Amino acid sequence: MGILENIKEVEKKIENAAKSAGRKRDEITLIGVSKTKPVSLIKEAVGCGIRVLGENRVQEIMEKFDHIEGAVWHLIGHLQKNKVKYIIDKVDLIHSVDSLELAKEIDKQAKKFDKVQKILIQVNISGEESKFGLPKEEVLPLLNEVKSLENVKVKGLMTMAPLGAGEDELHEIFGGLKKLSIDIKEKKVDNIDMEELSMGMSGDFEIAILEGATMVRVGTGIFGHRE
Ligand SMILES: *Cc1c(COP(=O)(O)O)cnc(C)c1O
Repeated sequence: MGILENIKEVEKKIENAAKSAGRKRDEITLIGVSKTKPVSLIKEAVGCGIRVLGENRVQEIMEKFDHIEGAVWHLIGHLQKNKVKYIIDKVDLIHSVDSLELAKEIDKQAKKFDKVQKILIQVNISGEESKFGLPKEEVLPLLNEVKSLENVKVKGLMTMAPLGAGEDELHEIFGGLKKLSIDIKEKKVDNIDMEELSMGMSGDFEIAILEGATMVRVGTGIFGHRE
């Protein structure tokens, strides 16, 4: 299948999942995850209506950035502190903030561009052994520190389900992130928004939408399998 057919298929599934959840299609942003894919293919996707591109490596955003028009970039993968400076002027949203040190570095670099950098806090809901993402108990304490950074704006939360999770577990994880965002919203922390929930990938975005995702990160489903 070509990219256009793939996107139509993903769009249909998003619409159906939104409808089942009693939600509107336009509450959900489709992020085309273009990691490892060449500029030519990414241009084709943008030509087919993809407006947000997700990459998980700083290097790839730097290489592709100048070649793509008509879309914004999101960093969705782990970000090392020493690499923030390379992408701070290129990304619309960073999905993967899981420490105060990283948030502070983003704040510092964003200041140089007079920019308020939008970020999400990455949460490890399932509690599985994972290098990335904050345990849910640590999210509110982090937000209470991050709220005072002037050049960082928290827009919500992000999570990744563990590989091979079954349907029940996926509902539990995505539902858990939604619940956490509601709990945090009730705390009314200054300067912190909880409007975005980035959850769901090619294999599980429909379940994520049923549980309240506002951003789904779809790679394989749009661009085909990766090497
Ligand atoms: C690669 C990646 C995706 C997309 O994965 P697919 O299964 O190809 O849709 C989503 N989120 C993150 C953080 C990724 O690294």
